[in-house]
Amino acid sequence: MSANAIEATRIPATPPQAPPTYLPPQYQQAQPPFDADDADIILRTSDEVDFHVHKVVLSLASRFFKSMFQLPQQRLSLEAGVIELDVVPTVEESGVLDQLLRFCYPCADPLIATLDELHAVIEAMEKYQMHDVVARAQSQLKAFLESDPVAVFAICCRFGWEDMAKRAARSALAVPLSNFQTGWTVKELRYVTGEQHQALLCYHSQCSAAATAPLFDFRWLNSDSGWVWFTCQSCLPHPSPLVVTTRLGYAREARYVRRWFMDLVERVRAVLNDCPGVRLDPLALLTPVLKQTCGCPNCRESAFEHIFKFLNETLMPRINQELGKVCAIYISSLLILILVLGSPEIAALITTDASA
Ligand SMILES: [Zn+2]
Repeated sequence: MSANAIEATRIPATPPQAPPTYLPPQYQQAQPPFDADDADIILRTSDEVDFHVHKVVLSLASRFFKSMFQLPQQRLSLEAGVIELDVVPTVEESGVLDQLLRFCYPCADPLIATLDELHAVIEAMEKYQMHDVVARAQSQLKAFLESDPVAVFAICCRFGWEDMAKRAARSALAVPLSNFQTGWTVKELRYVTGEQHQALLCYHSQCSAAATAPLFDFRWLNSDSGWVWFTCQSCLPHPSPLVVTTRLGYAREARYVRRWFMDLVERVRAVLNDCPGVRLDPLALLTPVLKQTCGCPNCRESAFEHIFKFLNETLMPRINQELGKVCAIYISSLLILILVLGSPEIAALITTDASA
């Protein structure tokens, strides 16, 4: 091998590298009031924010921290004249810990904007055994009953909050039953047992039956109230008369009603069957009916007013009364047993009885 070839295969020398420099992590200071100079402990979040807080406050709010601070503490270092506070690493992010601590400190409770944030705060409170504080966070779930009733139900089941779970189940009646049957999902349902999910669906189904019952059996309806679907003699009558109550309330009679009224009844039944807790929208229900009544001199004048009044002042109170019975009888016996006793066998037994 020639001298030139040896030169070509020689491995170039690597330049000497500087020794690695240790850079201590930089931790961000939390916002006031969690930057206090007289703090005696630091809670460090997963996104590297230091909360300078007071053991006495944490101990009063949290059994977890009270037990922790009763154990002998080891300081990381203690130099002359310089006190280095103990650091407790947490898995929470700074946004969650900030809101959690504001429930513990003597300041106004934070108003949490989203259910995800509230769930994370409640989860942390439960983990740190903040049983008195968590009740105040739990009350903020009410703000999400209308927008996310099923998610609130799932969160309540997760933590065994039966009263709020019942309220959420009642609010979930505004969610169409068909949603549950067509792949619609709520991520919080992962925290619900099969029995609890079954209880929610059974309750929904029971309420559908209860809400539509007054639209199959009209014996609760007074026939002498002057409704135009009873009094009009011009529009086509429905072939089957309704059995209703007379004015004095002790007798029944069969009265023919106009066909357009039974069309309305069919529409209302369909809405309530899928969505027993929904607020009936008179305008949406009325539009197709009014097309039928506009040609009749009797119904044209009164149909809108009578139907509006019937839906809001007569039918809805009756439906709410029927739903209240289901709440009192069904969900109390079913959900309480599932949530408190947590026995799948009992739940299965009751579910079978209720659907029989
Ligand atoms: Zn008419």
